[in-house]
Order: sequence, then structure tokens, then C-alpha cells
Amino acid sequence: IAAITGSASGIGAAVKARFEAEGFETIGVDLRNADIEADLSTEAGRAKAVSEILAGCGGALDRLVLCAGLGSSVKPASLICKVNYFGVVDLLDPLLPALAKGSQPNAVVICSNSAQIGDFSDHPYVVAMLEHNEAEACEVVDKLESSIIAYMASKHAVGRAVRRRAAEWGKASVRLNAVCPGPTNTPLLQGCIDDPLTREAIENLRIPLGRRGEPEDVANTVWFLSGEQANWMHGSILYVDGGNDAE
Ligand code: NAD
Repeated sequence: IAAITGSASGIGAAVKARFEAEGFETIGVDLRNADIEADLSTEAGRAKAVSEILAGCGGALDRLVLCAGLGSSVKPASLICKVNYFGVVDLLDPLLPALAKGSQPNAVVICSNSAQIGDFSDHPYVVAMLEHNEAEACEVVDKLESSIIAYMASKHAVGRAVRRRAAEWGKASVRLNAVCPGPTNTPLLQGCIDDPLTREAIENLRIPLGRRGEPEDVANTVWFLSGEQANWMHGSILYVDGGNDAE
């Protein structure tokens, strides 16, 4: 059984389709058009998602793929923080015991290749996220002038959150990895192309392989990371971006 957040659109929908095509039973989580309709920007929504996933898998979960996320065009900036960071860690941690009871269990988090574009390591917003201080992170980010930083730094923090958990998850024999997609044709990317603040930057991105990604390109990478062939991959961050990060 695989639980997938953000399952109603883009990368999450492609991941769900791929797992189903490979014979998995899936539990999709999204705001709407999903098995579990939950708002991951709220504590109550995250708790609902966790308890309904646990009920749906009978307490033993094999795969967890966290795709739900918001792009930099979304306002207020704190909403990006709530979904992209807390909507991930607040599912990862309470679902670890159920994953530990699963078969070849692992989780994959969708991060972003924009996570390392700026130097966010000691940014108060990132520090607050990593300290799990949601109120502080939201307050700091809403004072910033740019939702772009809100997005990139939320992905920077989520990548570090994945790596920080390697010891604990390894002890439980549950693999945890992240995928960093580059620009992928989904409604989220379209929102950024429609936003005059980011349109030019996205259109000018250099992608050595000469095209943007499709959701299936990312789903293929998630499928690889979650499968037996990646059995010794843990705490890793894998880029799938047509070479964009290398540029
Ligand atoms: P998308 O908009 O197609 O899908 C995102 C999904 O998340 C939607 O179905 C949406 O309803 C859901 N979601 C948003 N807020 C939610 C909330 N509060 N509660 C529950 N669900 C919520 O976008 P996508 O491009 O497929 O994004 C998937 C992931 O990939 C995101 O984490 C995004 O940051 C990441 N990503 C995307 C790109 C890209 O270029 N598309 C690049 C790098 C990373």
C-alpha cells in the first residue's frame, strides 16, 4: 500500500498512476478529488490525513510519497511554508511506526532543485522550520518581500529535514530519500510562468537536455528510489532536472 499526497494533480497524480500500474493499492491525499481530502496547511488537516492513512492501511504502510506543495506564486508566503515544510514533516514523523511495519518500506519526499539556489543555511525562516516552530517560521516569512524565497527556502529546509532523519529512520529499517525536480510541466509551474515576477527567470532557465520535465519523468525517479534496486539509498537527495542544476 502506498500513500501519496498531492495525488490530484501533476507529479503526485503521475506517481499514483505509476504505483497503481505496478500493482500497488494507493491512498491519495489532496485538498479534493482524493481518497482522503485534507488540508495539509493546517494541523487539523495533517492529523486527519495521518489518522485516515493509518486506518486505510491497517497500521502497516509500505510506501509514502509526499508530493503536495505550493509554488512561489502563492500568497500569503506563510501558506507555502505550511504546506511545503510542515505538510511534509508532520506526516513523516507520525507515519514512521506504520512504515516500520510495512514491506520493504520507504518514503520519498518531493523537494526541488531550487533548494540550493540561495544561501539559506542560517536564515531565521529556515532555522524556525527546522526547530519545528511553525508560528515563528510563518511570522518571519510573511515579513519577507519575496514569496520566491518562501518557496526555495521551504524546499531547502525540507531537504535538510530528510537528511536529519537518516539515523532514526535507518534504525527503524525504513529508507527515506528526496527527489529534486527541475521545471516540470504541471499547474504549479504554470502558476509561476503566469506570474510576472518569475516568468522571465523560468523561461530563461538553461536545461541541457533541451526540454522541461513531464510529471512522468519525476514519477519514474520516485519509482526507482522506492524500489528494491535502490535498497541501499537512504538519506539521499536525487536530482531529476534535465541537467538544469548542473548549469
Ligand atoms: P501541482 O500543483 O500539479 O500539484 C500539487 C498538489 O498539491 C495539488 O494537487 C494541490 O491540490 C496539492 N496541495 C496544495 N496545497 C495543499 C494542501 N493545503 N493540502 C493538500 N494538498 C495540497 O504541482 P506539482 O508541480 O505536481 O507539485 C508537486 C511537488 O513538486 C510540489 O512539492 C512542488 O513544490 C514540487 N516541484 C515541482 C516543480 C515543477 O516545476 N512543477 C519543480 C520542483 C519541485
